[in-house]
Amino acid sequence: MTPINEIPSLSIVVPCYNEEEVLPETIQRISATIELLIEKNKLNSSSCVFFVDDGSRDHTWEIIESHAQSNSFVKGYKLSRNRGHQNALLAGLHNAKGDILISIDADLQDDTSAIEAMVDEYAKGHEVVYGVRSKRETDTFFKRYTAEAYYKLLAKLGVELVFNHADYRLLSRKALEELKRYSEVNLFLRGIVPQLGFSSTSVEYERHERFAGESKYPLKKMLAFAVEGVTSFSHAPLRFITGLGFLVSLFAFFMIFWVLAVKLFSDNAVPGWASIVIPVFFIGGVQLLSLGVVGEYIAKIYMETKSRPLYTIEKEV
Ligand code: UDP
Ligand code: MG
Repeated sequence: MTPINEIPSLSIVVPCYNEEEVLPETIQRISATIELLIEKNKLNSSSCVFFVDDGSRDHTWEIIESHAQSNSFVKGYKLSRNRGHQNALLAGLHNAKGDILISIDADLQDDTSAIEAMVDEYAKGHEVVYGVRSKRETDTFFKRYTAEAYYKLLAKLGVELVFNHADYRLLSRKALEELKRYSEVNLFLRGIVPQLGFSSTSVEYERHERFAGESKYPLKKMLAFAVEGVTSFSHAPLRFITGLGFLVSLFAFFMIFWVLAVKLFSDNAVPGWASIVIPVFFIGGVQLLSLGVVGEYIAKIYMETKSRPLYTIEKEV
């Protein structure tokens, strides 16, 4: 058996936005899981769950508060206003104290029974454990297909992603401390975590229906999040403008010869035509190309301002 002082403590982080309908059940299930793992000597007794109230407008905070008084596993933070899922999650991760951190949504879509499997993988020496959905049948047809296309697009753009993994994951203290070095404002967690490196693995779980309440990710927020994923990792869209500018310039170059030929060697040219058409092609191409070049520099500045760490030392002897 593992000696007592080596049994890790776990902090579970749960961002909550208007989740009064599910919260009592979530609290009950998560505390039961923690209790069981403490009994099994897989976790030490300082393990707990941090609920981060992301500026809810319903009774979410009151529920967290009242459970915190009666249930020693429950702790809570209340953000001063709604800052979005990723930021609420970060607030919890930055303030939680455990040796192991697991992030999970409040709506019980992510199966809490995978928590034990994640802790087991940590015990085997993995610093990061991804929760991966084995099936997406509970998602709508639309969400499933758009999500799949999106993951493929990101992969094409060179963003390292774990397929069918959202924000249900385990991070060791070591991995979390590395994550904190990424100081950028809009942190796309599921893209950054694979960049950390470290030994990682995944655990499969079945994605359920939302236990109660409605999705807090309407289409508009989802699209913004999707754009964030592309623009924080890749300047492929800017490259595309440069490429387009180059093609248009090339095309303009040949068009100019053609216009001149028509003008000089045939009688079809309307007076004034060549002097209008040539600049249109020429300026169009040059403008797009210049825009792309400027864009390339902006992309460089953008990447620099993120001041991402250049390396991570995993071990030292
Ligand atoms: N959430 C949050 N702040 C927000 C929106 C969502 O903290 O502004 C939380 C929400 O309470 C839930 C998690 O993020 O715990 C995921 O949201 P949801 O389940 O609504 O997203 P979906 O599963 O529909 O993509
Ligand atoms: Mg959900």
